[in-house]
Amino acid sequence: MLKGIATSSGIAIGKVYKLEQPKIVLSQSKQNKEEALKLFEKAMEKTIADIERIKERAAATLRPEELAIFDAHLMMAQDPEFKDQIIAKINEGINADQAAKEVSDMMIGMFEAMDDAYFKERAADIKDVSFRLLCNILGLNIPDLSSIDEEVVIVAEEMTPSDTAQLNKKYALGFVTEIGGKTSHAAIMAVALGLPAVVGCTGVMAACKHGDKIILDAKSGDVIINPSDEELKLYEEKRQKFLEEKEALQVLLDKPTISTDGHQVELVANIGSPKDMDNVIANGAEGVGLYRTEFLYMESTDDFPSEEDQFEAYKVVLERAQGKRVVVRTLDIGGDKKLPYFEFDPEMNPFLGYRAIRLCLDRKDIFKTQVRALLRASVYGKLAIMFPMIATIDEFKNAKQFVLDTKEELLKEGVKVSDDIEIGMMVEIPASAVLADEFAKYADFFSIGTNDLIQYSMAADRMSEKVAYLYQPLNPSILRLIKMTIDGAHSQGRWCGMCGEMGGDPMAAPVLLGLGLDEFSMSATKILPTRKIITSLNKKEMEELAGKALKCHTESEVSELVKSVLKD
Ligand code: PEP
Ligand code: MG
Repeated sequence: MLKGIATSSGIAIGKVYKLEQPKIVLSQSKQNKEEALKLFEKAMEKTIADIERIKERAAATLRPEELAIFDAHLMMAQDPEFKDQIIAKINEGINADQAAKEVSDMMIGMFEAMDDAYFKERAADIKDVSFRLLCNILGLNIPDLSSIDEEVVIVAEEMTPSDTAQLNKKYALGFVTEIGGKTSHAAIMAVALGLPAVVGCTGVMAACKHGDKIILDAKSGDVIINPSDEELKLYEEKRQKFLEEKEALQVLLDKPTISTDGHQVELVANIGSPKDMDNVIANGAEGVGLYRTEFLYMESTDDFPSEEDQFEAYKVVLERAQGKRVVVRTLDIGGDKKLPYFEFDPEMNPFLGYRAIRLCLDRKDIFKTQVRALLRASVYGKLAIMFPMIATIDEFKNAKQFVLDTKEELLKEGVKVSDDIEIGMMVEIPASAVLADEFAKYADFFSIGTNDLIQYSMAADRMSEKVAYLYQPLNPSILRLIKMTIDGAHSQGRWCGMCGEMGGDPMAAPVLLGLGLDEFSMSATKILPTRKIITSLNKKEMEELAGKALKCHTESEVSELVKSVLKD
């Protein structure tokens, strides 16, 4: 048995299709300049035509945001600077293939060296395009995955973005690659396509040949080539069980989330951009519990996003939510989230510094643009506004008053604003959790930001690997803060949600249900599994469990309690 990195879930059993990419061997004999230029121009044209053709075919199976990979490739292939640099090298007397390789390698190196994950990923795009270009210059054939017409499991050295995009789900049962990590393009695409895949499986290419039988388990990372009859039987059963469980989850798609004794909670999604709404809808979320608007600000490179740009984004999200509540969090910048066009003064502890609502209350000009855009968009759906990092009641009152004043201003301008906007706050600073019953006299709702609440309660930087052991959502101290927050909200007839990672943690669900959490907000793909757990639990019993958990001394004691009620 071989072991690779698990990417998703699911099991594939089938015949090996070995994807063997042509080996690039650069030309040895010297090309004359004209010949090299012609060769390059023709290869470039073919490369662009190839990408356009692949994109066209992929359009049948991929969603628009996944197809965007090909736009990135086309942009790269049509980038005048890329082309000019290669031509300049050819004009210096270098062969076309050598020139293309040198320029590509330089650009790949440049992008790979960047800190930003987005730019690092661009390096994979350049590799993909330059490989195609080099093959076209050298007259090498690239295998055409879209022509596969029987059920196979693909085994490859590496799956480039265009390889994965060419896969026809009807025939590709899954894939195994030698290289790649959990966040590699191939792994991300496998999840998007819903295909079982194992990446980083060293030795798999040498271990199999075309037509061999293969089993891959995308959850454990196990790969078995030419399995025994017993192994086949075992994995066939596992596969059946997985498919049945997946199918069973689909039944929950449009169902409410009700415990066995009739208590209903809301399961909603965290999003970072209007694009995420596809996933929200596909996974049966009952609305949006956290829209992190800072991504709008971080994507912009030269200035704060305009009122118009923001209005458009909020309008799309509200319209697509079709009347379900959308909780939009106002700008949460600072700490680790910086902007290229805004200078933060250096601070010793940026996480404890000038950030989020503190910055917005100080820079009302910045805050005003966002609040105007939000209020204008409010007529397109059910908007709730939430302020991040509230520590004091004065901060909340000031921020809320600012929204109300801005509403008056808009109404005077003749702009329509909804009359039904809830104004709430994140509880992510221990001070506000402790005083939650008083905050609840002013805020329409709370959403507990456990990522920060735990960081500030434990005094443990959430970015530091070394103190990661202190991220203990089930520590009784954290549970007591959560209880205070939920009870505080309920004492004034308010609702309380949770949008930190703990909100989608299966181990936390029983205790949170028992503590009376009203709304659980999480990444969309966790909605159905969480719905399955909660609908199998009894609220009254979970209240007892939560009562015991609050009296525990350690996180591991709470974990043991939870494990006793979770079936798998
Ligand atoms: C949180 O702190 O739990 C939260 C949801 O906000 P963020 O992770 O964006 O800080
Ligand atoms: Mg936070």
